[in-house]
Amino acid sequence: SLSNQALADAVLGPPGPAQRRAIAKTITLLESTRADHRARADELLNGLLPHSGKSLRLGISGVPGVGKSTFIEALGLFLINQGHRVAVLAVDPSSSVSGGSILGDKTRMEQLSADERAYIRPSPSGGTLGGVAEKTRESLLVCEAAGYDIVIVETVGVGQSETAVANMTDMFILLQLPNAGDDLQAIKKGVMELADLVVINKADLDAHAATRARAQITSALRLFGQHGDPHHAAHDQALWQPQVLQLSALKSQGLPEFWAAVSRYRELQTANGRFAARRHNQDQAWMWERIDAGLKQRFRQHPAVQAALPLLSQQVRAGEVAASVAARRLLELFH
Ligand code: GDP
Repeated sequence: SLSNQALADAVLGPPGPAQRRAIAKTITLLESTRADHRARADELLNGLLPHSGKSLRLGISGVPGVGKSTFIEALGLFLINQGHRVAVLAVDPSSSVSGGSILGDKTRMEQLSADERAYIRPSPSGGTLGGVAEKTRESLLVCEAAGYDIVIVETVGVGQSETAVANMTDMFILLQLPNAGDDLQAIKKGVMELADLVVINKADLDAHAATRARAQITSALRLFGQHGDPHHAAHDQALWQPQVLQLSALKSQGLPEFWAAVSRYRELQTANGRFAARRHNQDQAWMWERIDAGLKQRFRQHPAVQAALPLLSQQVRAGEVAASVAARRLLELFH
């Protein structure tokens, strides 16, 4: 078994089979629940961190069947043909609920995964969404350190996973079908507000529907801009305005226009300082998120808390102790 130094050297080394194995091994370590693996992974991450951060991190979401894997494969092939190295990671919210997987099971992106210049890793499984997201975030840093300059993080449009992915990427892209019901879903769930770019896929099926959807979503995005969110403030030329594009992933139509929009986003948000600020805020928020999660876990495992918890819970249920008083008593036991 390789030492941490040898493993880090191989991750940072030249692209090829040895590097791929080292990336996989590193990610396996950081996905492990064993304490000794976690300790190794922490040391590895620290060593890799100075080499990370240079990629463009793209979050991609949309309902099952919208065409995410078709799109990511087409985009990935388009990008590696331009000389990029592309890593594709996934946050699968279903893995933490059912132990199954929406994203991982079927054979996906066959052409892209066969290519040396791409690295595809399925979602870590098990644990909470927070835990899955944490591991994906760390895997992202490993891929960056290995020189992948485009990292795509994919998630299915379910629950909180879109927020988790938007919070670990530089740009969040929402794939939509060319029909209005689907748009309303996304608007209702507040997912549309996360989007820096909305892509209407399958435009080849119904050009009229795609054009109509584009107009509807464009006006919905403008509405968000009017409601005081400075991120989407309208008419400020120095700030990115969320856009809506149509394309066909299946026919690889519209990819150059898509990539031009992504590049404009990157240039504009780098020039106005938002690109760096977003990452900075994400790191801070992430640190506190993990502190909250860790504290909660330690709290629940604390012997004095465990001893007092059953009776106090029961007293709260019976209406004998106020919930807030019980919480204060338990917190006082937690040193
Ligand atoms: P995912 O569940 O979001 O990953 O969706 P998939 O990429 O598996 O695509 C679901 C289905 O839609 C597949 O049968 C694809 O071939 C098809 N599909 C994806 N993109 C397009 C597109 O642009 N046009 C058409 N006509 N079909 C598409």
